[in-house]
Amino acid sequence: MIVMKFGGSSVADATCMREVAALVTEALPAAPLVVLSATAKTTDTLFQAARTAEAGDLAGAVELQRGLMLRHRGIAQDLFPQGVPPALDQALAELGDELDLLLRGVALLHELSPRSMDAIASIGERLSTRIFAAHLGSVWVDARTVVRTDGVHGNAQPAFKELTALARQHLAPNLGAGRAVVTQGYIGATASGLTTTLGRGGSDYSAALYGAALGAADIQIWTDVEGVLTCDPRVVPEAQPIAELSFAEAAELAAFGAKVLHPATIQPAVEAGIPVTVRHTRRPHGRFTTITAAVITGRPVTALAQRGPITVLTVTSAHMLNQSGFLASLFQVFSRHKISVDLIATAEVSVSLTVDADAPLDALLEDLAAFATVGIARDRAIVAIVGERLKLTPGVTGRCFGAMRDINIEMISMGANEINLSFVVRQEDAKPALRALHAALFEAGSEARS
Ligand code: ADP
Ligand code: ASP
Ligand code: MG
Repeated sequence: MIVMKFGGSSVADATCMREVAALVTEALPAAPLVVLSATAKTTDTLFQAARTAEAGDLAGAVELQRGLMLRHRGIAQDLFPQGVPPALDQALAELGDELDLLLRGVALLHELSPRSMDAIASIGERLSTRIFAAHLGSVWVDARTVVRTDGVHGNAQPAFKELTALARQHLAPNLGAGRAVVTQGYIGATASGLTTTLGRGGSDYSAALYGAALGAADIQIWTDVEGVLTCDPRVVPEAQPIAELSFAEAAELAAFGAKVLHPATIQPAVEAGIPVTVRHTRRPHGRFTTITAAVITGRPVTALAQRGPITVLTVTSAHMLNQSGFLASLFQVFSRHKISVDLIATAEVSVSLTVDADAPLDALLEDLAAFATVGIARDRAIVAIVGERLKLTPGVTGRCFGAMRDINIEMISMGANEINLSFVVRQEDAKPALRALHAALFEAGSEARS
């Protein structure tokens, strides 16, 4: 079997859904499991409706709910000009009622727990897949019967063993050459049946999990770009598709903000040794990226990515001098507060580290104040240069620094075994930095790709 995952823009409207149906039909001999995101902007709208309800504005929330349902009904009517089949009509009505009820509950209590948010967010994928499965005339499976997760709402972790057993039970019997099975990305459920989500952009992760659980031959991520490009094309229009990428490079790019893949996607695929391909739904026979374990040689720099805003903490203490165990006790504080650190640079009496902008810092800072002074720089961004052979290729780092000559670099990180060189800059400098780096490393006259 294969997994075909289509993102929100690929199922935005009836025209898009017809295109996707044609691609799935073409792939029927390969026994496709079709994993869909919510239609474009739907998850954002559901979040907005939930927050509107939380603020007590029930009328505003219900208006958003109605708009969403109208849009989905419109897609269904467009796909079924002779009349929406009663089963689909009823499924849509039930989802609309469920959303309405959830929003009323939130508005009544002025309380939006992560658990309620997940229940509300799940409506998006359930709507898109109901419509698409009806259009294709294929089996629809509720991902919540398969994707068993822990109870960390909003960012749930899958329980892979249970998930595999459930996938064999609920998905495998329906899969086979000549037919497709349609299910949702992004959503799952706890053992007690509470709806969870895998975090924003999590449908890619779902696709990899299904693929690994079912031993797929290929995990295909269909989106709105011709694969993974040398940089986000919205920032650098000159960005070029990359034909082959190693798992390590892809994981690094995703972790450093290349939105084209959810950061956790790669891991189940690596463990199962399944190639992941990233393809353009509108240009199915165009260029695409294959991500495999093989290390690609001869290319010092593969791609650029940025992540921001992030916050830089600089911890300074005279105790660091000649004292063993200082870093250990410092990181214990971070671990106690469950705050994850991305980049680190140390000097004689100070350590700089980066954390997510929304990390809860107050309590952490209080604990740190006990043994060090802490400087905080907010609204920073990480600009990452990723390549398997980066550190082996003389002259590349020089070219990177040359490109950054007009930009103030506040922190640098490049580990001995790392395949990325990262700069921390002010958030507003991130885009100019990417453009300058891209021009120096990938565009005409640059030798970096030789
Ligand atoms: P989907 O809805 O299909 O999951 P996303 O919007 O999540 O699509 O991801 C695709 C988008 O990722 C692209 O439109 C592009 O703007 C962005 N992106 C960021 N970095 C890269 C990159 N290096 N290569 C390709 N796309 C990238
Ligand atoms: N629909 C979800 C989101 O927008 C998941 C996804 O598209 O991957 O975050
Ligand atoms: Mg995505």
